Amino acid sequence: MTPLDDLFQRLSRSPFRQRFALGKIEYDYCLNKGEVQVREHATDFIKQRLAAAEPTNDGKQTPMRGHPVFIAQHATGTCCRGCLRKWHAIPQHQALTTEQQAYAVEVILHWIHQQMQKPAPVAKTRKVKKQDTNPQLDLL
Ligand SMILES: [Zn+2]
Repeated sequence: MTPLDDLFQRLSRSPFRQRFALGKIEYDYCLNKGEVQVREHATDFIKQRLAAAEPTNDGKQTPMRGHPVFIAQHATGTCCRGCLRKWHAIPQHQALTTEQQAYAVEVILHWIHQQMQKPAPVAKTRKVKKQDTNPQLDLL
C-alpha cells in the first residue's frame, strides 16, 4: 500500500471530505484543459495560497467552487494550513518546502484522477443559460 492509498482510505472515512465531487463544469474543464494545465494550476494555487509561513486568510483562502483544484483541495485536506497539519502532518507557521508543495499537488492530482475515472457527472437540473459557465474558470 502506498502512502497515498493510506491517506485516501482515511479521507474516505470523513463524511465532510466525501461531500466533495467534481460537477459537470469542473469535470469538463479537466477534460478540456488536460492534466498538464490542471497540474500547473494546482502548483500555482499551492504556492500562492498555502506555501507562506502565514498565508493570507489562512483557513478561508480556498473557495468552495470555481475551479476543480479548489474542490480537490477541500476533498483532500490540502485547502489550508490547518488541514495540511491535520491530514498530512505538515507543520503550520513555517513555509512549505518545495517537496511539501509537490506532495500537495500529487495528492490533488490523484483525487482528480479518481474523479475522472467515474462517469461524467450530469448537469444540475436548475436552469443554466448557455453562456453561464463559471466566469472564474475563464480567468485561469
Ligand atoms: Zn482547510
